[in-house]
Amino acid sequence: MEIEVKQRTSINIVWLKRDFRTQDHAPLQAAEAAGLPYLILTFFEPSLLAYPDASLRHQQFVFHSLHDLRERLQAFGLPVDCCYGEAVDIFRYFGETFDLQTVFSHQESGIRLTWERDQAVRECLDALGVEWCEFQRDGIVRGIRDRKGWDASWTAAIESPMIRNEYREHVPLEWEYPFPLAPDYIRQLDDYPTAFQPPGEGNAWRYLRSFTEKRGFRYHRFLSKPLDSRRTCARVSPYLAWGNLSVRQTYHWVHRHPNYRKFQLAFSSFLTRLHWHCHFIQKFEVECEYETHCINRGYELLEHEPRPDFVEAWKAGKTGVPLVDACMRCVAATGWINFRMRAMVVSFFAHNLDQDWRSGVYHLARQFLDYEPGIHYPQFQMQSGTTGTNTVRMYNPVKQSLDHDPEGTFIKTWIPELERLPLQYLHEPWKMTSLEQALFDFVLGRDYPAPLVDLVESAQKARKKIWGHRSNELVIAERKRILKTHVRKKR
Ligand SMILES: Cc1cc2nc3c(=O)[nH]c(=O)nc-3n(C[C@H](O)[C@H](O)[C@H](O)COP(=O)(O)OP(=O)(O)OC[C@H]3O[C@@H](n4cnc5c(N)ncnc54)[C@H](O)[C@@H]3O)c2cc1C
Repeated sequence: MEIEVKQRTSINIVWLKRDFRTQDHAPLQAAEAAGLPYLILTFFEPSLLAYPDASLRHQQFVFHSLHDLRERLQAFGLPVDCCYGEAVDIFRYFGETFDLQTVFSHQESGIRLTWERDQAVRECLDALGVEWCEFQRDGIVRGIRDRKGWDASWTAAIESPMIRNEYREHVPLEWEYPFPLAPDYIRQLDDYPTAFQPPGEGNAWRYLRSFTEKRGFRYHRFLSKPLDSRRTCARVSPYLAWGNLSVRQTYHWVHRHPNYRKFQLAFSSFLTRLHWHCHFIQKFEVECEYETHCINRGYELLEHEPRPDFVEAWKAGKTGVPLVDACMRCVAATGWINFRMRAMVVSFFAHNLDQDWRSGVYHLARQFLDYEPGIHYPQFQMQSGTTGTNTVRMYNPVKQSLDHDPEGTFIKTWIPELERLPLQYLHEPWKMTSLEQALFDFVLGRDYPAPLVDLVESAQKARKKIWGHRSNELVIAERKRILKTHVRKKR
């Protein structure tokens, strides 16, 4: 009897994960060097889409970044596409349909769910006899126990020459994936709101160039202003988070820019922040439990009275505190607010409203277009005072408002119901007497909520609670552990 042996085409796959660009891309370089035909794919995975940190805006950003990549690479006959399904099922399909040899990707410092997904993928690929070649991302090191030598290795990675990806012409591969995205979902992904930063490599470079050529000169001055910072901050965070830019590309560009000497103060503090970016992700790479557990386990003992009504008001921008509400509405509509405003809304949530950080952390993860788990969870916890190693900063929203939005322009933009109030009350509408309210045809509680809590009293209570807890034995023991693991020794 003659056995029919069907010849399967030998291929490789580049699995895109937060690295949607064509340059400084090690997996794409390796796939090109391997000489086999290869597919460039990203996955929309139902288990990740159903997770509480997932939001349509992130998926839209990925979808449009992928389009951008496809346009850039189509001249070389390279297929760039997305698949709907669990990663393991997708690889099994390709492993059984083709002679799949190697999967190339970057390492992902993600949440526990993506870490576990990666372990399942590793098992699946091993069973199929497929090699998985993972590359370091942005100087983040896998498997280290402390920070000995980390700074030096990060600097070496970031200052090393960039990868110049070159693409030769490919004979287009014949393939059809049986589980495409549903047409309705594609329509949703396609419909990208213009209020968000535009995705893709070209836009990423446009933002970076305009920062170094013009916008960045006033970086320092307006860093914390809710309105001006929208122009003067680099605004490269979504591009770094989704990998339209690598940290190395960004670092090289700014460090070697002709304007560097002229604007050294601004640019060097920008570069310091790129270091923070990776420092935070490195922490999370080592302990992704920071998504769900207090960094300092001693703070698990702190009790909070859950107030779902407070949480909902905070999310909706209806707490009765104008700057907090303006920020929450602004980030919902545009996907971005600056660092200080992020810190302030979290401080208000955790300290003034006395809510467990876990009941707010996913909401902001969904709002930030630049959602990067490695920065988001540690930062959210820092501002909530659950690290035990940092000074607890409580932001007074009225002071922030008077310091950074003195004319109330930002507040009026996002809370039109306060527009008609005189400036002196814009920051604290609850201070208006009934007579003054009548004069301006404004009723507190009808036109705009009365504040959920008294700002001074709630801050005093929070200070007592959080500072009092710093001497707890577990907090002290945990502090030592954290310093040993995540902080480098100073000489
Ligand atoms: C509660 C909270 C959550 C945050 N979540 C995120 C997040 O999910 N993703 C994210 O990229 N940033 C996050 N940040 C950090 C910071 O607010 C943003 O990186 C910054 O506002 C992005 O704007 P930009 O690109 O104009 O920053 P710039 O000020 O121009 O800085 C340049 C780059 O440096 C990095 N950077 C700046 N500040 C920080 C910081 N404090 N920590 C770590 N890296 C920093 C970012 O990659 C940023 O793009 C968070 C901050 C807080 C307080």
